[in-house]
Amino acid sequence: MSMFFPSYLMLVVTTSCNLSCSYCYEGEKHSGSAMSLETAMKALHMAVAPGKPFHVQITGGEPLLESERVFSILELIRREDWPVTIAIQTNGVLLDRVTIRKLCKYAVSIGLSVDGPPRLQEELRGGSAATYRAIKLLDEEGVPFKVTTVLSDRNAGKLHLLAMTMHAFPMASGIGLDLLVRKGGAAGQSCCGLPEEGLLRDGILRMLETIDLLNRERSRSLTLREKSLVLRAFRQGSRHHYCSASKGESLAVTPDGSLYPCTQTVGDPSCFLGTLDGRRDGEPTCRLSSMRAEGSWCSGCPLDGRCPGECPSRMMYNRSTRRNLMCVVYRTIFDYCVQKGEVAV
Ligand code: SF4
Ligand code: SF4
Repeated sequence: MSMFFPSYLMLVVTTSCNLSCSYCYEGEKHSGSAMSLETAMKALHMAVAPGKPFHVQITGGEPLLESERVFSILELIRREDWPVTIAIQTNGVLLDRVTIRKLCKYAVSIGLSVDGPPRLQEELRGGSAATYRAIKLLDEEGVPFKVTTVLSDRNAGKLHLLAMTMHAFPMASGIGLDLLVRKGGAAGQSCCGLPEEGLLRDGILRMLETIDLLNRERSRSLTLREKSLVLRAFRQGSRHHYCSASKGESLAVTPDGSLYPCTQTVGDPSCFLGTLDGRRDGEPTCRLSSMRAEGSWCSGCPLDGRCPGECPSRMMYNRSTRRNLMCVVYRTIFDYCVQKGEVAV
């Protein structure tokens, strides 16, 4: 029987959500179950077992729909002397001052899902007024936060506007780009699709230039997660795939105790690993480890052997629809860094 000892544990505390993003990877499902404390503790004890530091990601659905449950889990974690870092990914709609202060008390890093300036956010996710109110509150409370953006044909050309919008908030510290995955609501007809290569290249370039300009005026720099990944992988000079799931180091646990390699694979029967109660259907990597972009795909690329690598599950879901667009993102960033003298080739 396989044993799972994740160093990156994702707790899907609820499958419910209070928004209806048209590309939602959960499909139409906006109500669902919540994780019991017993399930959370079983998952946590699995991660604690090896006695090594680990990370807990509180996620959903929208986790703050179950805020009392989230705080009970946080209280349980912090009561123990575990070597654990914690983050929460939220749409921010329910984030008020009290909640922000409680999350800070438990040393929880806050990530918000933001796809663009308010009008675009409203079109793509809804609830924009509440999300931006939360961003303002985080700023007023002096709490650093990062945003994660689903990258699609709707916002690829407007990424610089997102950077400019975040510039209004001194506590904004970074933006991460998650290329749209053709899964759930995004698998069929939805409001957005994958961007064309030219649009994507121009959008990334303009965003990089904008961030560099804005950072001249900021005391807290805005970072682009993908640029950090490319620079780190290139400078390390060795293949360093960033995906913890493909290395069997991460595990997503759903409210009913089902196990998947990461949240992006939740609900996919081909990635089901078993249950917390002991049933084991596969290795923690499932088939993600065979989905790496490397070998002949990468020959001739200046990042070959020094690339962060593409998300294997995204490759799995997007494979038949478009060639690897993350390579366009990485190559654009790399070329920009070479041009700016940030890397020597
Ligand atoms: S950018 Fe794409 S082609 Fe280049 S090394 Fe990375 S995965 Fe391979
Ligand atoms: S498969 Fe993709 S979403 Fe899942 S952990 Fe790896 S990189 Fe992240």
